[in-house]
Amino acid sequence: MTLRSILLAPSKLLQRRGIQNLYRQYASGHREIPALTKERYPIKRGKFSEVSDGDIARFESILGGKNRVLTATEEIQGYNIDYLGSVRGFSRVVLKPKSTEEVSEILKYCNERKLAVCPQGGNTGLVGGSVPVFDEIVISLQLMDKIEKIDEYSGILVCQAGCVLETLEQKANEKGLVMPIDLGAKGSCHVGGNLSTNAGGLRLVRYGNLHGSVLGVEAVTAEGRVLDLMSNFKKDNTGYHLKHLFIGSEGTLGIITRLSIFCPTASKSINVAFLGLDSYESVKNTFLAAKRNLGEILSSCEMIDALSLESSTYHFNLQSPIEKYPFYMLIETSGSNIAHDEEKLTNFLESTMEKGLVLDGTVTNEPTKMRNIWKLRELIADSLINDGYCFKYDISLPLDNFYDIVLAVRDRVGPLATKVTGYGHIGDSNLHLNVSCPKYGSEIHKLLEPFVYEYTSNVRGSVSAEHGIGFLKTKYLKYSKRPESLLLMTQLKGLMDPNGILNPYKVLPQV
Ligand SMILES: Cc1cc2nc3c(=O)[nH]c(=O)nc-3n(C[C@H](O)[C@H](O)[C@H](O)COP(=O)(O)OP(=O)(O)OC[C@H]3O[C@@H](n4cnc5c(N)ncnc54)[C@H](O)[C@@H]3O)c2cc1C
Repeated sequence: MTLRSILLAPSKLLQRRGIQNLYRQYASGHREIPALTKERYPIKRGKFSEVSDGDIARFESILGGKNRVLTATEEIQGYNIDYLGSVRGFSRVVLKPKSTEEVSEILKYCNERKLAVCPQGGNTGLVGGSVPVFDEIVISLQLMDKIEKIDEYSGILVCQAGCVLETLEQKANEKGLVMPIDLGAKGSCHVGGNLSTNAGGLRLVRYGNLHGSVLGVEAVTAEGRVLDLMSNFKKDNTGYHLKHLFIGSEGTLGIITRLSIFCPTASKSINVAFLGLDSYESVKNTFLAAKRNLGEILSSCEMIDALSLESSTYHFNLQSPIEKYPFYMLIETSGSNIAHDEEKLTNFLESTMEKGLVLDGTVTNEPTKMRNIWKLRELIADSLINDGYCFKYDISLPLDNFYDIVLAVRDRVGPLATKVTGYGHIGDSNLHLNVSCPKYGSEIHKLLEPFVYEYTSNVRGSVSAEHGIGFLKTKYLKYSKRPESLLLMTQLKGLMDPNGILNPYKVLPQV
């Protein structure tokens, strides 16, 4: 079989759907407004103060007027509902600081008054961490979007936490650099949100996770202290590495306000291959072949099952470049020498096809075609929500057991689900198990949880590979963290946030 270049039909949905579109769907009645979190889940409000008119006046004085203190119901609805429509709080105020000093003033005041807060970035989080559970004050980082410096020599980018990832990617590209992180939500998510969730994404296989790429952070503690942990060097072994406390702590230990991140040099040669395979076993062996044959130029390795692809092509009117197969793989290479990279990719594809691992495949280095192939993968998450409601599980599993859970869950929930699909970052052993249905139902929910987490724990997987714990998974943290680790996490929280005002009810299990 030979490789062929492809021409994908232009998508009718060329523009990335902004997250705000989803909220417009609520407003227009196209999407059902979810039940309040306090009604759907058994949870008690903590002993926090309630926001008074005096508090609003104080916020207005800190933020210089009413413009950045939102209180009108229609203005704040989108900040109370998460992307999935799985949780809904009822905050009555959203604050939009522009500077670290303002964040510090707000937190200092809230801590004294024992007012709980919920930091929010792009609100694309998938575990219910980014919206209030009750009436916590939303602190939105939307207006903290200054890029301070991009140094093409060192590759270091310094910016405020509210910069949208895609904007940073574009600005980094102009300097011959790339962001070390890429994900389907890049048009809306903030880099501060990415750090707070330690987001993984599509390039982790190449550039590693954010604990490595982030050189420094500036964060404000619950008491309003500004911690300057910024560093512009890759090497800095001076005592405890405090920045790591803020990477992945989902706004429970402090609010990230600025950061510096290392951006690798942009590759001159990028290729994308889209492959059709007949079994998960072939997917696994093709991944091994990709690692062995593509080595240093492998920059993404994604698996998509048939139902996942059917979902994105159907809901977004996209066209697959190859015929239908039970499984697909999207493999991206990024290198510096076109001829060398193409030769490697061709050898890899020819050998996997000869061995019968890959049944069909197509490869392209043309930017529009590459983008169209990526869309097939990136729009899966959005497309499954279009079925009505989607239970999302983001788990790390050993590659030997990677896909079995999809079959087990399909069997378990039967006709209660519209689709049970599996796709994800096979290059990082990270499966996205998605169960879509016409609307949220407690019957299917009970069949799924704790089953999925117990299954994951039994094979020593992780109950959250990259999305975090947020509100939805606190009960299940114990499946991946041992009691002594949980105790230390609780002690750290107590030390850094004595009044527990920062994103309460998130990450740590409620006692
Ligand atoms: C289509 C789609 C694809 C996705 N793909 C991936 C993927 O491949 N990999 C992946 O890891 N995730 C993925 N996600 C999940 C999500 O995009 C990430 O978790 C992202 O990092 C969240 O960023 P955000 O700015 O939207 O944060 P939000 O959703 O607003 O917040 C997430 C958490 O971080 C906290 N937070 C936000 N900003 C700050 C701050 N400045 N300081 C302190 N705490 C803060 C919030 O309180 C919350 O707990 C995807 C989501 C969607 C919708």
